[in-house]
Amino acid sequence: MEKLVIIGSGPAGLTAAVYAARANLNPLLIAGNLPGGLLTQTSEVENFPGFPEGINGFELMMNMQTQAEKFGARIEIATVSKVELSDGGTQQITLDSGEVIAAQALIVATGASPRWLGLESEERLKNCGVSACATCDGAFFTDQKVVVAGGGDSAMEEALFLTKFASQVTVVHRRNELRASKIMAERAMNHPKIDFVWNAQITEIMGEDEVSGVKVKDNASGEEKIIPCQGVFVALGHSPSTELFKGQLEMTDHGFIKLQHNTSLTNLAGVFAAGDCADERYRQAITAAGSGCRAAIDAERYLG
Ligand code: NDP
Repeated sequence: MEKLVIIGSGPAGLTAAVYAARANLNPLLIAGNLPGGLLTQTSEVENFPGFPEGINGFELMMNMQTQAEKFGARIEIATVSKVELSDGGTQQITLDSGEVIAAQALIVATGASPRWLGLESEERLKNCGVSACATCDGAFFTDQKVVVAGGGDSAMEEALFLTKFASQVTVVHRRNELRASKIMAERAMNHPKIDFVWNAQITEIMGEDEVSGVKVKDNASGEEKIIPCQGVFVALGHSPSTELFKGQLEMTDHGFIKLQHNTSLTNLAGVFAAGDCADERYRQAITAAGSGCRAAIDAERYLG
């Protein structure tokens, strides 16, 4: 029987592993199908404290992994296919290989993934002008033109944030009415640097090695036009990776794990959650790392 299993190897999972290992809990971390998590797919991380020159996302995650292993965390490259959770009893985790692991406590740190438009050109130009995080990448577009895709609160927030850097921000939304809250919508619509292209779909992101514009199609007339820009921010919301836990852990309407009273506790004793899978609001590497620390401390207290 394992004392503590952690599912997920992003900043939340690995920070939980560092803390749990240093507390002699001998944690086993199941890394999932993208060891190191989403950050391994970004280029430079400039907002993680302690790295004034910035750090490559992959390197940051490998450093966290090395640190966790140094204190005795065991990391298994495997994917979880099923969990059978209990309220205060044994947590059962089944891997893709069929192996079943029993644990006294479990930390869920499975993350969330941004929704993408699904275009080939978008995939090709990711990190070359196409991003899903203005907080991470906005500063790279100082005095340049950018396009934001989406019509929800995330899109308005990204657009407003980008006005600090970009010379012009164009929001492309597929309907002629925003999904965003009234206050966010008004703020964006009243901003002199933000304009809107309504009822339109981005059909292609232009450029070979870097973004030069987007092709948009009017949904009513079918007419296509090109908007020149250097950056494209896709803000279509995030999907939490919580499918495995449906019906067992309490979740929000959007599928994020619900936490109890500003802690990492879920509705089941012995099951804790950390990082983006339980955070609809902040979704930053540093907030994920902080919540991983909290989950390890909560797990340690529970096991104690
Ligand atoms: P939402 O699901 O609310 O919005 C997603 C947006 O993307 C919608 O406008 C949707 O269009 C559009 N979209 C989805 N798929 C596609 C596609 N394939 N092509 C084109 N457009 C697409 O996600 P958010 O992340 O914006 O918000 C999630 C939750 O988080 C909400 O409850 C929100 O209020 C909250 N939030 C709050 C913030 C704040 O208060 N500061 C900041 C960010 C989020 P359509 O409208 O046509 O469906």
